Amino acid sequence: MSKIITRFAPSPTGYLHIGGIRTALINHLIVEKNKTEFPDSKFFLRIEDTDKKRSKDEYFQSIVKSLKWLNIQWDGNIYKQSENINKHIEIANELLRIKGAYKCICTTEELEERRKKNLLKGLSLKKLCNNCEGDPNIQKLEKDFCIRIKIEKSNFTEIDDKIQGKIKISNDELDNFILLRKDGTPTYMLSVVVDDYLMGITHIIRGDDHLNNAFRQFHLYKNLGWIVPKFAHIPLMFGDDGKKLSKRHGSIEVLDFKNKGYLSEAIVNYLAKFGSSNDKDEVLQKKQIIYNFNFNSIVKSPSRFDYNKLNFINSLYLNEINDEDLLRELKENFNLKIKNNLVDLILKLINLYKKRSHNIEELNKNIKSFINFEIAEYKKVSSENEKKILNQFFIYINNENDWSKDKIEKNLKEFVNQNNIKFSHLAEPLRMILTGSKKGPSLSEIMIILEKKETISKINKFLI
Ligand code: GLU
Repeated sequence: MSKIITRFAPSPTGYLHIGGIRTALINHLIVEKNKTEFPDSKFFLRIEDTDKKRSKDEYFQSIVKSLKWLNIQWDGNIYKQSENINKHIEIANELLRIKGAYKCICTTEELEERRKKNLLKGLSLKKLCNNCEGDPNIQKLEKDFCIRIKIEKSNFTEIDDKIQGKIKISNDELDNFILLRKDGTPTYMLSVVVDDYLMGITHIIRGDDHLNNAFRQFHLYKNLGWIVPKFAHIPLMFGDDGKKLSKRHGSIEVLDFKNKGYLSEAIVNYLAKFGSSNDKDEVLQKKQIIYNFNFNSIVKSPSRFDYNKLNFINSLYLNEINDEDLLRELKENFNLKIKNNLVDLILKLINLYKKRSHNIEELNKNIKSFINFEIAEYKKVSSENEKKILNQFFIYINNENDWSKDKIEKNLKEFVNQNNIKFSHLAEPLRMILTGSKKGPSLSEIMIILEKKETISKINKFLI
């Protein structure tokens, strides 16, 4: 091993999603780990903004915000691909000069015509421009041409990908792709290679939707006499149905997770292990995540994004946060408004609910439904039977002075037995009145937090 230089190279053409940030995280973790031995290893951020029509500043902001939120720090300034266009053009011309590329004047219609003719003959040839390269007149033209790569026919291209393994394809599978369009603008394929070279990238770690491009980019490096960096193509994330992860499966944009109150460390923990053979769920600090990270354990097959597992890990982290900090977070970012006299009670509720909430949004919902619950409104929709049961329970519990957990539990059980009703017949309306929700923590825990006075007062409000 020696120092490694990686990059994350998103195009700002959409909000950064969870699969994209995983790629960034892997690049970041591998470099952080490598830095312990080789401190001048680097992780760069390059924004590939050459598609001016589809690139937007809000997408750029989402990339930067998402990376910052997850504490994925890059080295140095942010590179913008569009600022380097002259260099890309220069390299395309250099390739012409050293005969690693050629001028082509084929029109789109001509190429399409050839493609159709080939198909009729049962051929799916990738190289549709075969005349221009050998035509000296075309190669002498001064304008109205595009520049295409030269790829040696009847040979093979082999890539030894760090995740996908050795893959060999016939060069017939590769087209003579365009480097510089007729209007003089460079293509993605050219810009990526030139930038990676100039930034000294040693490892290209990205989604496996770019694996095909690697075979093409390989020839650019070769034709230019540049060292081909190491490639590692990470399998994309799938949803629980085995299809590519998309909005249909739930939140996928990184900042959606932030808005829902997922914790950045929990997301990092989940993503660092995602698709690897390491499957232990535990709360880890960033340092430990870096230490544990094992690039070689990333599996080749696509893995499924498991919201339940993320929820589980997130709740582990949520439990580690102290109640005051959570209250501050709820007030500052989740619009929770509480009266001063309720602060102590809410802190106790936070303590109770954080154990059963997957994220802060859920915690907030529980606390808000507690605060905003209108007992009088519930009374209007509750059944006569519920009223009868709660009335009897009120009489039963009103004289109880031992408000210990054991005694409350004993009372609840005895009441249900004596009245020969199911536990849920009491628990659901009672929990509703006490917390604003039929489901939730155990009644005894809630009744202890509310103490006798508040418990009785709430039931009374319902009965009068
Ligand atoms: N800009 C490309 C994308 O957002 C990534 C290019 C690369 O990593 O080589 O998909």
